[in-house]
Amino acid sequence: MHILWPMTFQGDGPLDTSGVSGGGGGGGGGLPGGIKLGGGAVGIIGIIVAVLFGVNPGDIMGGGGNGNNASVQGNGADPQLQEQINSCTIAKANSDVVCRVVATSNSLNKVWPTLMNGYTRPALRIFNDNQVASGCGVASKAAGPFYCPADQTVYINPSFYDELSGQLGGSNLPLAQEYVVAHEYGHHVEQLTGDLAKGQRMGAKGPTSGSVRIELKADCYAGVWANHADKGPNAMLKPLTQQDIEGVIQTAQAIGDDTLGMKNSDGWTHGSSEERVRWFTTGYQSGDPNQCDTFGTNDL
Ligand SMILES: [Zn+2]
Repeated sequence: MHILWPMTFQGDGPLDTSGVSGGGGGGGGGLPGGIKLGGGAVGIIGIIVAVLFGVNPGDIMGGGGNGNNASVQGNGADPQLQEQINSCTIAKANSDVVCRVVATSNSLNKVWPTLMNGYTRPALRIFNDNQVASGCGVASKAAGPFYCPADQTVYINPSFYDELSGQLGGSNLPLAQEYVVAHEYGHHVEQLTGDLAKGQRMGAKGPTSGSVRIELKADCYAGVWANHADKGPNAMLKPLTQQDIEGVIQTAQAIGDDTLGMKNSDGWTHGSSEERVRWFTTGYQSGDPNQCDTFGTNDL
């Protein structure tokens, strides 16, 4: 049965799949003991850590954290997935979740150079395996999508979307899925501007921690992208609807630290549901990255 989702991409034609790879890796054995995100290691000055989407912090990571992934066996290439990626078109992005991720990366790589000088593209790694080898260590898919600054790569296992719209209560609408990718690209922008390193020096937990500032800024940047993605002669998205935006808000609400069960804000890493929604909305309504100044206020 064919389910008709609201379309977000317009037109047809090929996608740019350079810089997009498919595969997991990390060997078949158990994870070596290593850095646990959310643990004490995250706040250490100078350490390079991955930035998680925020669903299961503390769940992953071993054998890395310093950009050295020598413990990883093989490159984990997934030829079948790579073929799927290479065959993606804009039209397929409306029906195929892998192509939707690829198309979103294309749109992000079009929008961000118009908003900032010196934007360079991150790599994108899509994986179907249970774990993935990254420059920040081996990550379990349970950790959810993440950005690794050591190799400037966004990692995503599309099965996360089932978790997001299932047990977590997020939306399965296309723009809500695209928001996840845009949030991770937001972390890449933060890496380029230095905000990621700055935030990681400022501490990993608490309602005004560096981590929360990093995450809310990435949500705001995702909103900035959404503002621009359906405008201009190069717009890849058709005009966004209220329903599209409401899907993003539903997802942002679902992944606030408080909604995920963290009643004590001392443990927050990503901010409350209200904050995540509000910063996305700030970015979306303004379209201006300068409005995403989560480091310039304590009123997050
Ligand atoms: Zn994040």
